[in-house]
Amino acid sequence: MAEQLTLTPVIPIPAHLVGQVQAKLAYVDEAIASASIAADGSRIDLQLRAAAPADLEAKVQSVVQDMASGASKPKVEVLEDHLQRGVPYAADPMPELEQRGEVHQETNGVYSFGPLLANLIGVFEDYFLELAAEFGAKPQRFPTLISAEMLGRVNYFRAFPHSLTFATHLREDLHIISDFAENTVYEPAGLSASLESFSKIQALLSPAVCYHLYFGLADKPLPGGQLAATAVGHCFRYESSNLNSLERLWDFTMREVIFVGSREYVLDNREAARQKVTPWLQELGLAYMVESANDPFFVGEFRKQAAFQNAFQLKYEIRARLPFKDSTLAVGSYNYHQDFFGRHLNITLPDGKPAHTGCVAFGLERMAYAFLAQYSLDPAQWPAIVREARAWA
Ligand code: AMP
Ligand code: ZN
Repeated sequence: MAEQLTLTPVIPIPAHLVGQVQAKLAYVDEAIASASIAADGSRIDLQLRAAAPADLEAKVQSVVQDMASGASKPKVEVLEDHLQRGVPYAADPMPELEQRGEVHQETNGVYSFGPLLANLIGVFEDYFLELAAEFGAKPQRFPTLISAEMLGRVNYFRAFPHSLTFATHLREDLHIISDFAENTVYEPAGLSASLESFSKIQALLSPAVCYHLYFGLADKPLPGGQLAATAVGHCFRYESSNLNSLERLWDFTMREVIFVGSREYVLDNREAARQKVTPWLQELGLAYMVESANDPFFVGEFRKQAAFQNAFQLKYEIRARLPFKDSTLAVGSYNYHQDFFGRHLNITLPDGKPAHTGCVAFGLERMAYAFLAQYSLDPAQWPAIVREARAWA
C-alpha cells in the first residue's frame, strides 16, 4: 500500500545541497517511489510504494549525514549570465511533442524522436562539427558498449555506481538458453528469467563519450604529444525516479570535443571552445548561464570529489532556462580532468609525464528540449540561424 513518510534530517541540509541529496534518495531503497526535500533543507518527504522497511529512516539519514555534514558552500563561479534574455515561449513543449507524435516513450527514460526533433538536433550537430573543425578535432566513432575492465581502471564504479547500466547475455549453456527460449515472459517487474541464467558483466552501456578515446590511448606515449577529437554517442545513466520527461533520460546522446595533451593545451582549448560557443548561443537566442558545477558522485565520494572539482575549477555547465518551470537545465559542460586519465591509463606525454584531458560535451536531447521550451514548436518564432537551416514543413 502506498504511503507517505516525512522525516526531519539529522543535520540540516544546506540549501545548495538540497537538489543533490534529493537526487540520491531515489537510490536509497526500492520502497521509495519519489523523494522531495524542502528548499530550506529542513524536511524530507518520501512517497513510498510499500510500507516503510524498518531500516529506511536510518538509510536516508546516513545519506544526509555523508553528503551534508561538514559540507561548506562552494563558491559558485558564474562565467556567463544571459538567463534573462527575452524568449517568446513559456510552456512545456512536451505535451505538444507527444500529441504530434514527435516523441514516443519506449520505456522509462527511453524515447524515439520524430522529424522535427531529429532536424533540430541536426542543426545543432552541424554547428558542433564546425566547432570541432576549428580545433582540428578528428572525427571518431565509438561503441555503445564499454569495457568493464577499463571503467574499473578509472574508478568509475566507486564514483558513479548508482547510474551504471550493465550489458549481459545468456550463459553459453544449452539448458539455460533453451529454458529461456521456452519459458521467459515479460512480467510487470521485468523479464521472468532467473539471474543465474545471465553471464558475469564484461561490458556496460557507455556512460560518456570521451572515455572511449582515453581507453584507446592507454598504455602508450601520446602520438604527437597532443590531440583533439570529436564524436557523438549514446550515453546511458540510470537515473531511477529522477528520470523525467526529456530532461533526464536513461539513454541520451552526447556530442563531445575532446582534448588530450599538456595542462596548458587542454585548459587553453577548453577556454577557447567556450569563447567560440558564446556567440553561437547568442545567435541561437538561448537564455542560459555558464557556472561552476560538479558531477553527481555517489554518496560516499560526493563531498570530497565535489569540493575538489570546485576548488580546481574542473567543471562548468551551460544551464539553459526552462521558462515554464522557472528552473535551469544543464545542456552542456566544459570539463578538465587534470591528469586523472593520463595517470590511471598510463597515457604519456613526450616528457614522460601523464597526459592531461578535457572535453566539451553537449547533451543533444536537452539542447533541443531547452530550445523548444524557450521558442515553441513553431519555426516562425525561431531565431534565423535555426529557422533558415532546414526546410521546416
Ligand atoms: P556531463 O558529462 O555530466 O557534464 O554531461 C554532459 C551533458 O550531457 C549534460 O550537460 C547534459 O546536457 C547531458 N546529460 C547528462 N546526463 C543526462 C541525462 N540523464 N539525460 C539527458 N541528458 C543528459
Ligand atoms: Zn567527456
